[in-house]
Amino acid sequence: MNAQPVVLVLNAGSSSLKFCVYAAGASAEYDGWQLVARGQIEGLGTAPRFIAKDGTGRTTDDHAMTATVRDARSALDALALWLRARFEGAQVLGVGHRVVHGGASYAAPTVVTPQVMQDLRALVPLAPLHQPHNLAAIDAVAERLPGVPQVACFDTSFHRGHQPVADLIPLPLEIRRTGVQRYGFHGLSYEFIASILPQVAPEIGEGRVIVAHLGSGASLCALNDRKSVDSSFGFTALDGLCMGSRPGAIDPGVVLYLFQSLGLSATDVERVLYKQSGLLGVSGISNDMRVLLKSSADEARLAVDYFVYRAAKEIGALAAVLGGIDGLVFTAGIGENSAAIRERICASSKWLGITLDRDANAQNGPRISSARLRPSAWVIATNEELMIARHTWSLLALPSGKDLAVRT
Ligand code: ADP
Repeated sequence: MNAQPVVLVLNAGSSSLKFCVYAAGASAEYDGWQLVARGQIEGLGTAPRFIAKDGTGRTTDDHAMTATVRDARSALDALALWLRARFEGAQVLGVGHRVVHGGASYAAPTVVTPQVMQDLRALVPLAPLHQPHNLAAIDAVAERLPGVPQVACFDTSFHRGHQPVADLIPLPLEIRRTGVQRYGFHGLSYEFIASILPQVAPEIGEGRVIVAHLGSGASLCALNDRKSVDSSFGFTALDGLCMGSRPGAIDPGVVLYLFQSLGLSATDVERVLYKQSGLLGVSGISNDMRVLLKSSADEARLAVDYFVYRAAKEIGALAAVLGGIDGLVFTAGIGENSAAIRERICASSKWLGITLDRDANAQNGPRISSARLRPSAWVIATNEELMIARHTWSLLALPSGKDLAVRT
């Protein structure tokens, strides 16, 4: 039994609902918030499964769920039951949500109101695969916990300070007026990294830094003095780097060819671009970098080669935007865990002056470049959920207590 007030963080996607629970004053060690549970309901619509860990990362639940758990609403019902049992009597002080699109105007997280929801629904056409699920979770919480304040945190907000030229997509004005511009995504991850640079890598805190968020989605962000000045993601999260099942930047003429010559429908093209390309499309084996690195197949090698090639090429582009770099930071699943990929990207970026310390790299950093040499290279774990929690504490005027960044 645990009756401390809690704040929930929810990240609702098409096939999963991820959650974190932060409790106030849960431990004698901290006078602030502490992560007490995190987990996900995955396989929504196929084979739903509930997985939860406690604040130390120990798995506390892992079981199959009934097939009736198939969308954000039914997943939230199931999560609510679990929360009630696990945190009996706990008051929910607020719920923070990851919302993929805040459009051009939401440059910061915001407390959800009917007007905010109306604005965010208007952005569904700009992120049809993600935004509806994010908003469905907000609606579902509003129905089940009326009166509990909710905070929407956007993947786009961190990129809203760009120069107009960086966000321009040079199409005719009447098309741009409908919202066609570069937005950039993974903003909560980059904002978190920017927030802890002074702690973890103070020598580059105010400098020109490229952050490489390399997970199943992958992108780069160019930071100057911890502010985003450009990103490899554009109008959608299809641009830029090669990803698990997305191609990254391709000639838009290919998309015309798919429609006009191969006769694919819009649904087919969407599936090709979001689900069948990238590492999976090139290798024909897997979208998982771990599988490809272990494989001896030529196609797996080509997929990894392209991933590295494209990452190095895009790093070069952002280095040009920044006029040189002071630091390169790796984060997310591949960036935090694969010394081999980091080594190859750093080797391809040697012309920028990056010199890897192989021992430090094998130990996952944090600093993985030779001491005293600039630019430096780093591995820093991201924590998008904590970023959402921080925004929620701040917007709801809840005391945030000690910063938990380096503990969670
Ligand atoms: P997302 O949150 O976008 O689903 P993650 O940031 O969790 O993605 O990254 C997931 C990816 O990280 C996996 O698909 C896998 O390819 C990669 N990954 C995780 N651990 C390793 C590792 N040790 N070596 C190489 N790749 C890894």
